[in-house]
Amino acid sequence: MRLDGRRRSDNVDDRRRVSGKSIAAGGGIVGAIVAVVITLMSGGDIGDAIGNLASQGLGSGGSYPEYVEDETDAYLFDLSSKVFAGTEDVWREEFRKNGWGEYQEPKLVIYKDAVQTGCGQGTAQTGPFYCSADETVYIDLDFFRDMQSTIGGGGDFAYAYVIAHEVGHHVQHLLGTLDKAHNQMARLSETEGNKISVRLELQADYYAGVWAYHDNQMFGSLEPGDLEVALDVASKIGDDYLQRKAYGREMPESFNHGRSEQRVRWFKKGFDTGVSTAGDTFTPSYTSL
Ligand SMILES: [Zn+2]
Repeated sequence: MRLDGRRRSDNVDDRRRVSGKSIAAGGGIVGAIVAVVITLMSGGDIGDAIGNLASQGLGSGGSYPEYVEDETDAYLFDLSSKVFAGTEDVWREEFRKNGWGEYQEPKLVIYKDAVQTGCGQGTAQTGPFYCSADETVYIDLDFFRDMQSTIGGGGDFAYAYVIAHEVGHHVQHLLGTLDKAHNQMARLSETEGNKISVRLELQADYYAGVWAYHDNQMFGSLEPGDLEVALDVASKIGDDYLQRKAYGREMPESFNHGRSEQRVRWFKKGFDTGVSTAGDTFTPSYTSL
């Protein structure tokens, strides 16, 4: 991905050196997080992350080692700031074009290990996530560093896809889609709620594709092979793929992000058309998504 000479976003908040990251795990927080946060990976991660912290006994004032930035992190921070700026430029224009009002830019918090958010405590185990309560995308750069070993895919454009997916949730939030869906989910059984979650996630993938199309139009950012990298990652974060890897079988009733094939297809659809209004994942029947 070509990012030379690109501007960095003014909305990035570097919290990697914030001290006093004490860890408080409580039932109330879990509920609050689940209600407003969407993760990139599997939805179970949030509860698991909190559960892990509690079981590790870090709840009573545990602390993390002091953060020192190395070359890789400096590079990833720069990349994230530039990609985030690209999402601002693209969505500002898309909102204007579609008569969606003025695009309210989200924030990007880069943290290390743990972070306080408007949705409760976030940790690196959670994976990148968006919190609608404070309109912020949260990323621990270790997620990017580990993508190759954990997912088996990585690279600049893969990182950009992750960021753009989370910004996609912000777009959903601004359009009212996210909050409406969460209200529905709160009233449904877990299985039915998961289906709404899949619709949200596939649309965020679609928006990520739309962003990639326009970013490339505006800045000529794509290099040969970039698209394949993003599609490869999308194919490795589908629920079916992750479950086969983790449990050796699929549990479709617990899918909450979509199958790999669906994630690839919706991202690609957004990228091929670049039309931000054509990503309706809520009207089609669930089985035809
Ligand atoms: Zn998501």
